Amino acid sequence: MNSTYKTIGIVIKRKDWRENDSLFSFYTRDFGKVEAVAVGSKKITSKLAGHLSSFGLVDLMIARGKRIDRLAQARLVQKFSFTSLDEFKFYAGLLEFLDKVITGHEADLAIWNLLEKTLISYSGNSNHNYREILPILFYLKVIETLGYRPELYRCVACHKNNIKHPYFSYVSNGLVCQSCQIAKETVAKESIIFCRLLYDDQEMLSRVIFNRRTVKHTADFIDKLIMHIFDKQFFTPKILIKK
Ligand SMILES: [Zn+2]
Repeated sequence: MNSTYKTIGIVIKRKDWRENDSLFSFYTRDFGKVEAVAVGSKKITSKLAGHLSSFGLVDLMIARGKRIDRLAQARLVQKFSFTSLDEFKFYAGLLEFLDKVITGHEADLAIWNLLEKTLISYSGNSNHNYREILPILFYLKVIETLGYRPELYRCVACHKNNIKHPYFSYVSNGLVCQSCQIAKETVAKESIIFCRLLYDDQEMLSRVIFNRRTVKHTADFIDKLIMHIFDKQFFTPKILIKK
């Protein structure tokens, strides 16, 4: 059995561990969420610490341990930089979200690719429209992966299709038609159509320019959805959408 493994990931959390060590949580491409101890990383001379203190993509080599894995090597391969406090808050929110919400240790390439694209797009991509959409897509995808994809086509109560004036039930996690009398809130029809496209026709992403109002409403909708599903407020894409 190979006693070490290599992957690429981002640091999602660091905490003190014994006197001179740190325990890192990473979200990685090949193994999902991973924890490893960086021995001596609190010492000034630590080579590992330098590569783990910036925000970015890190090449990792990890040695399997009986109780806990140990970080053998870490090399920062791409640094993320932020141009505003809101971008930084969004990034911090994303890390907190990954830390709290993802509990399994299985790789999910779709989530990794979206995460990587989202973070890289905030380090230089000038296509502003696309920059606002990627984080929304990321959160929709994670919600789906965890089994909370909202019903966006039919009424959750009567199963009617083609709803003219949609409402949304956050408790039932889906659309509700005008006639069904269950707790429901208004929702912008354009946001529902936008989310359907994000889920089911991502080809459209690169071809369509979305109206700013729709993007903003959708970010609000995702924010509320996440709050209801996970019972916690995070800095979601909403913070990135300029008024
Ligand atoms: Zn109905």
